Amino acid sequence: RNGFKKESYILSVDVGTTSIRCHVYDKEAKIRGSCSTKVVLLYPEVGHVEMDPDDLWKGFISVVKGAVQDAGIQMHQVEALGISTQRSTFTTWDRRTGVPFHNFISWQDQRAADLVKSWNRSCTMKAIHGAMKVLYFVTRQKRLLAASLIVFSTQHVTFRLVWVLTHYKQVCQAIDEGYCCFGTIDSWLLFKLTKGHLHATDYSNASSTGIFDSYQMCWMDHSLPMADQQAAMFGECCFDVGDVKITMGTGTFMDINTGSKPHTSVAGLYPLVGWKIGSEVVYLAEGNAADTGTAIKWAQKLELFSDVRETSTMAYSVSDSDGVCFVPSFSGLQAPLNDPKACASFMGLKPSTTKRHLVRAILESVAFRNKQLYETMLRETCIPITKIRVDGGVSSNDFVMQLTSDLFGKKIARPQHHEMSCLGAAFVAGLEVGFWRTREELKKLQSADDEFLPRCADKECTGSPNGEYVPILQSWERALRRSMNWYN
Ligand code: ADP
Repeated sequence: RNGFKKESYILSVDVGTTSIRCHVYDKEAKIRGSCSTKVVLLYPEVGHVEMDPDDLWKGFISVVKGAVQDAGIQMHQVEALGISTQRSTFTTWDRRTGVPFHNFISWQDQRAADLVKSWNRSCTMKAIHGAMKVLYFVTRQKRLLAASLIVFSTQHVTFRLVWVLTHYKQVCQAIDEGYCCFGTIDSWLLFKLTKGHLHATDYSNASSTGIFDSYQMCWMDHSLPMADQQAAMFGECCFDVGDVKITMGTGTFMDINTGSKPHTSVAGLYPLVGWKIGSEVVYLAEGNAADTGTAIKWAQKLELFSDVRETSTMAYSVSDSDGVCFVPSFSGLQAPLNDPKACASFMGLKPSTTKRHLVRAILESVAFRNKQLYETMLRETCIPITKIRVDGGVSSNDFVMQLTSDLFGKKIARPQHHEMSCLGAAFVAGLEVGFWRTREELKKLQSADDEFLPRCADKECTGSPNGEYVPILQSWERALRRSMNWYN
């Protein structure tokens, strides 16, 4: 643990939805070598989103080798490997042979939408919610209140797992005979890295599945390394209560550090284990919007622009969106509306509408969803916000960041290095082996930030939107309501 030579490094891999990235970090947390590869998403049926486990494993190995080569170092100079992964994407495999029974079923997958809806509406759920509420008032145990309020979503593993159990006989047989492994991406990688010796996960990933009780810190009785958002939180050094980070990649994930207590939500914020390091458990409350980068990629596919970097300039080049509203809901609307049946839509199109207006409407919708999530967080947690930091591909968009700052009435800091999941996993791995010693040391390693300040009309900047956005937001909220419950 003592006396690491300058030439030792930490390797960190982030398995995102768009790509798998690997960086080699030195003692100053500077990237010395990198490699990335695209994640191939499979869409075998409408609403189904899958990944091939073997492809993912090959991609993982190729970026590790590529980054080590890029850094010009030897593998033995690597002191630790940090892994951060997208959450709630799972597969099942045969413990004896290591062969998967089916592809990874992505967190974006909608195959269980009908099941989710029927459960949320069912008399059984209403009865359970009622009974939990009564028990909460008798016992005052917050986890019972949480259970009485919970709204199911397709992003929880549970319902997609039920789908697997009803569609794949061989999985049920393997469970009965005791050779079925269930795992999120981190578990699969650990299994492969240890040649089948380790079937494990960590608290941050487990708490994101929906079948792990974050209050009791155990798997739920009746149900069967670091997760990406939690890793990003750590990479952003959001160690204190009230610290907020917003990751805008394929989806948006807004997390607030709620300290040693999990947060109970009415509006669909999810209580998660941020990290458990030694005896310290830090909880997060998370709200998300599933379609952020997805909407931008879709617009690119339609040739509204050729390079994503043009989009900010395009949006600034018009004074407004020409009254067009975009509803970013390819995978439903999450907190605070929680409607898996909402459709994506453009509303208010006119003969005068140009590509630039459409692009502006899409980017505005990203900032509007940020505002909805932020206000939900303020209202529900009642925790004063100390700082707001952003990362993820879409955070490089100046238009989105400035509008978000205007709508929050708050300063937003964007690190120049925005691959925070990778950095966070490296930080945790590095602390574990003594490569870095304290969190204060990590804070000093952070790169300089770009800052976005709210452009308020007066000094009384209370977080209310700029005047011109009041009617635009109202129209957008109307568009949201009209898109809800579309797929009935
Ligand atoms: P993930 O980690 O979920 O794979 P990333 O953080 O890599 O996602 O972000 C990728 C997304 O960011 C892509 O959808 C891409 O289109 C989008 N993106 C990247 N740069 C910009 C930009 N300047 N403006 C808008 N979107 C961008």
